[in-house]
Amino acid sequence: MSTPPSPSSSHMPPPSRMSSSSSSSSSSSSPLQVAVIGAGVVGTAIALELRRRGAQVTLVDRDAPGSGCSAGNSGALSPGSVAPLALPGVLTSVPGMLKDSESPLYLPLTYLPFALPWLLRFVASARPDRVTEAARQLDAIHRGAIELHERMTREIGVPELFLRRGHLHLYPDEAALAKDGTGWRLRAEYGYRAEKLDRAGIEALEPQAPPRYRIGMYLADHATILNPRRYVEAMARAFAAAGGNVQRLDVTALRPADGGWTVQAAAQALRCDQVVVAAGAWSRALLDPLGEPLALESQRGYHVQFAGGRDVVSRTVVLADRKVFVTPMEDGLRAGGTVEIGGLARPPDPRRSAVLERIARDSFPALRDLPCGTWMGHRPCMPDSVPRIGPAPARPGLWLAVGHGHLGLTDSLPTALRIADAMLGREGRVPAQRVPVHSNP
Ligand SMILES: Cc1cc2nc3c(=O)[nH]c(=O)nc-3n(C[C@H](O)[C@H](O)[C@H](O)COP(=O)(O)OP(=O)(O)OC[C@H]3O[C@@H](n4cnc5c(N)ncnc54)[C@H](O)[C@@H]3O)c2cc1C
Repeated sequence: MSTPPSPSSSHMPPPSRMSSSSSSSSSSSSPLQVAVIGAGVVGTAIALELRRRGAQVTLVDRDAPGSGCSAGNSGALSPGSVAPLALPGVLTSVPGMLKDSESPLYLPLTYLPFALPWLLRFVASARPDRVTEAARQLDAIHRGAIELHERMTREIGVPELFLRRGHLHLYPDEAALAKDGTGWRLRAEYGYRAEKLDRAGIEALEPQAPPRYRIGMYLADHATILNPRRYVEAMARAFAAAGGNVQRLDVTALRPADGGWTVQAAAQALRCDQVVVAAGAWSRALLDPLGEPLALESQRGYHVQFAGGRDVVSRTVVLADRKVFVTPMEDGLRAGGTVEIGGLARPPDPRRSAVLERIARDSFPALRDLPCGTWMGHRPCMPDSVPRIGPAPARPGLWLAVGHGHLGLTDSLPTALRIADAMLGREGRVPAQRVPVHSNP
């Protein structure tokens, strides 16, 4: 695997203002003023990287940093996951997902009319040529992610959150493994080698692995973040300590103004030269009015987290036939997963977390008497699974870092480097990175 680009150091000189984005009111030598909307893992990583390169950055969120989708994910750093979600044959799963509220993929019938345009694009993305292209783009984004996170946890003072013990995917039999054949083929194509294990091999790694699993696929070089929310909080603290500004505002609109941008909130407006939209699944509310429509849909995911039980596994373990990720978080065992296409407005469906709880308790007897809490979050998903990262095609000074779907934790730091390289430059890399994000599929 290639070596990641090294993050810039915090003592680089301030950049000169970009000529294309100069605000008429400021001098050419003052630092670039950037507002980043959304303090999830993606926006916070971008804000920190831009600040390290000398920009004057305001990170804006209506909530505390790390309280959106980035709070409750499964912590898996999965660069090998280059297969998009929409794969050939996806249409056959639609009837099941409409009928069965316990299926790993669920779409309530009442939401179907709202989801239909996105679903049609999702199905179109499953064409073999589109899958090949999506995998190529995902690989390019994922490259080097693990090393970047390892370095980041050290730099921001939370090295204990980084666990490099690989990921173990478990299957009951060959038929179940074959269902994920495309994903494993694509991983291998892009150089991510998995070791195939029998039951003895599984037990050597994870003695408490549920007995029904007979085949393991072990990705030895993958890693885990043991508390995703605390990770974002630590990044936000590092950002503030480096002179970054964190503002708690609910942004209602973005408006081009005098060669820069106005970030409008209820009681306040901010002026900046450049604005980065990293508002996760809520980004459309800011982009649609600007004529930058994105085919973005929330894929609601859930987790249950047990008060204890973290020693039932020692690494990320995936119950692959159930699509459940089991993670030994620093504050208890987390079982996360499921996809529910149900929009941003409805409350969490307790049936979805009940399924996860039942699977976890059935799989690991040690969890049976432990209490657990539940959580639901909105994955920001594009139909082709490829996030949109870079300058908006027709809006100078507007940047997108949106649509990271199931892999936003993994891709947060590579995204931050891409945005910072394109906005502020890095010798020899600017022109290639200035290509606007590609349009919707
Ligand atoms: C169950 C589950 C498991 C997952 N597991 C993994 C995993 O193991 N590995 C992995 O890589 N990824 C995983 N993910 C995906 C990952 O969590 C997301 O891709 C990632 O968190 C998206 O980050 P984000 O910063 O784009 O969005 P968010 O974290 O949702 O942040 C967006 C922020 O924008 C703010 N915001 C939105 N609109 C406005 C506004 N108008 N004004 C002000 N603020 C606004 C929100 O308050 C929020 O804080 C998982 C997701 C789920 C649900």
